[in-house]
Amino acid sequence: MSSLKTKAIVLGNINLKEKDKLVDLFTLEYGRMAVSMKGVRGEKAKLKMAKEPFCFGEFVIENTKGNNIVTQVDIVDNFYDLTKDINKFYEGCALLDIIKNVATAQCESEIFIETLKALKTLCYENVKKYYVFDKFLIKLTEILGYSFINEKCSSCGATMKIVYFDLTKGMFVCPNCKTEASFKVGLDAFKGIDNLSQTQYEKLSTLNLPANAEKEILKILALNLEWRAGLKILKIN
Ligand SMILES: [Zn+2]
Repeated sequence: MSSLKTKAIVLGNINLKEKDKLVDLFTLEYGRMAVSMKGVRGEKAKLKMAKEPFCFGEFVIENTKGNNIVTQVDIVDNFYDLTKDINKFYEGCALLDIIKNVATAQCESEIFIETLKALKTLCYENVKKYYVFDKFLIKLTEILGYSFINEKCSSCGATMKIVYFDLTKGMFVCPNCKTEASFKVGLDAFKGIDNLSQTQYEKLSTLNLPANAEKEILKILALNLEWRAGLKILKIN
């Protein structure tokens, strides 16, 4: 039997026999892990709160005969306020969904830290809808190795007055360099993405993007990550 202690965020859970749960954990040191929690569906269970999605804490996990069993949790924050606001809750769920798609056992700890920052901001700051999610998509795409925010055309270096986004390249290009996989991007959305990229999570609540660009920004960021990481992100639109 071996034991480990790690900071982790709960991504989800499913019922097991009796009052047990199989919990999907995103850990700082070990990436994603499936762990079981004994008796946690009981009303009086000590670890009742620790099985819920968004719960962040320090988990002690014992490996017994190949099974990872949680024996202790010190909850740091369960982001309970997310459940009080349907929009924030939905945005938080979308964020955890993405993690389920990109997090592996060898997941970068940078992604973990980014997730935590995003959840804190979403829960405690008064940020406009989807800005936290947008910011998270930008950072995640970069962490995965696909930096894409370019001021000038990524192909020819020209200053862009009209902007396209090229999905095969995952970059902004000018009208001369666009391909069949490019689509036109409004200037407000183009600048908005740059703005989101440069604004730290702590300052996101001060950001106000042109309302007409908000949907477009989310679409570009989601499509780009879908193409780069080969996953299907959004039911959001
Ligand atoms: Zn060009």
